[in-house]
Amino acid sequence: MVFENSLAFAEKQDSLDPLAKFRNEFYFPQHKGQDKLYFTGNSLGLQPKEAKSALNQELDDWAKYGVDGHFEAQNPWFSYHERFKDKLGQVVGANAEEVTIMGGLTANLHFLMVSFFRPQGKRCKILCEGKAFPSDQYALESQLKFHGLDPKRNLIELFPRDGEHHLREEDILEAIAQNGDEIALIMIGGVNYYTGQVMPMESITKAGHKVGAIVGFDCAHAAGNIGLKLHDWGVDFGAWCSYKYLNSGPGSTAGIFVHERHAKKTDLPRFAGWWGTPPEDRFLMKPGFEADYGADGWQLSNAPVLAMAVQDVALDLYLKAGRPNLLEKQKNLTAYLAFTLEEVSKKHTKVNFEIITPKERGSQLSILTHGSGKELFNYLTEHGVVADWREPNVIRLAPVPMYNSFADVYGLGELIDKALN
Ligand SMILES: *Cc1c(COP(=O)(O)O)cnc(C)c1O
Repeated sequence: MVFENSLAFAEKQDSLDPLAKFRNEFYFPQHKGQDKLYFTGNSLGLQPKEAKSALNQELDDWAKYGVDGHFEAQNPWFSYHERFKDKLGQVVGANAEEVTIMGGLTANLHFLMVSFFRPQGKRCKILCEGKAFPSDQYALESQLKFHGLDPKRNLIELFPRDGEHHLREEDILEAIAQNGDEIALIMIGGVNYYTGQVMPMESITKAGHKVGAIVGFDCAHAAGNIGLKLHDWGVDFGAWCSYKYLNSGPGSTAGIFVHERHAKKTDLPRFAGWWGTPPEDRFLMKPGFEADYGADGWQLSNAPVLAMAVQDVALDLYLKAGRPNLLEKQKNLTAYLAFTLEEVSKKHTKVNFEIITPKERGSQLSILTHGSGKELFNYLTEHGVVADWREPNVIRLAPVPMYNSFADVYGLGELIDKALN
């Protein structure tokens, strides 16, 4: 596509966009009576307008049935989580039995590592990306300590080469090969939250398996953003939150993936709870835990239906828009943002910023600002842009294909231009 930095061009693209109508399915925060230019769908996705009625349905059934809602509600709560398996499978590229909806992301990472980080003998280390999302760093460090291991010696963190902003695939693969017989677990963010880099998940998985390691990905910035194929890539496990690109609301229920090859290993060590038993046993209150088949066997608690009700409508919108359409629009919209930023940057030689996101990317572009980045960011905020600032000097922008428009992107470029003047 040949881009033009003009409102006419942006509006033309919007008029041709088959997903344009989905914008109207979401509430936009307002600035002076107009939609804000919302570029933080990578942090908290917008609220689907349908969320309230879905939530009310469950509140009404709770009022009407009390405890009997477990079986009598329009969407019985006892089996409520089951409606997500097929939908989530489509989002992350997995079979229905390989995914389930439960708890929160960091907690789920811990539960999965209880099963999949099993240090033994020489094989005690975890390999991850340097500057991982802090919660992941804390989770990995505390898992190591939990096994009596010193994180300083057992956490292998990979950093970009000097002067570079993201990891090279060849360097990741070499680090895996070099440390092969010492790595118990590779746990990396599928899309880096800071740079927006999409990791080569398939080749990392292959390389990890070749040396005998387990491979898991934190898909917080990947789920609903890029075209995941967790099953086909052979990934052992994955976890994600639903409030970023999946628009399910602040702190809403997270998701897990466990590859089919582990589905029948009911003897894998795990921290168990009653919802992890087969559904027919769940209310029998028998002594002795027996794990359900597949990802469901990692569930602990009964389903948080109120949060899930919102996720249900959010996922329906995702599937209605269609993954191929979303990925296609994403490519164009993010490329248009990159183009617009470059056009603006060319006009202002004194002030500069650079895009540090590599071409392996999803929706997000991270801009490293030199000089007065914080002033630029503040100007944008005052003028109705919602972006996000990461210390020391990065602005993250994510035009998301579900509800952002080409006109949003053009509008942002125009404001940056004004700010630099
Ligand atoms: C957003 C995000 C989290 C947040 O974890 P919660 O447990 O949902 O608070 C963790 N890790 C990564 C990589 C994230 O992007």
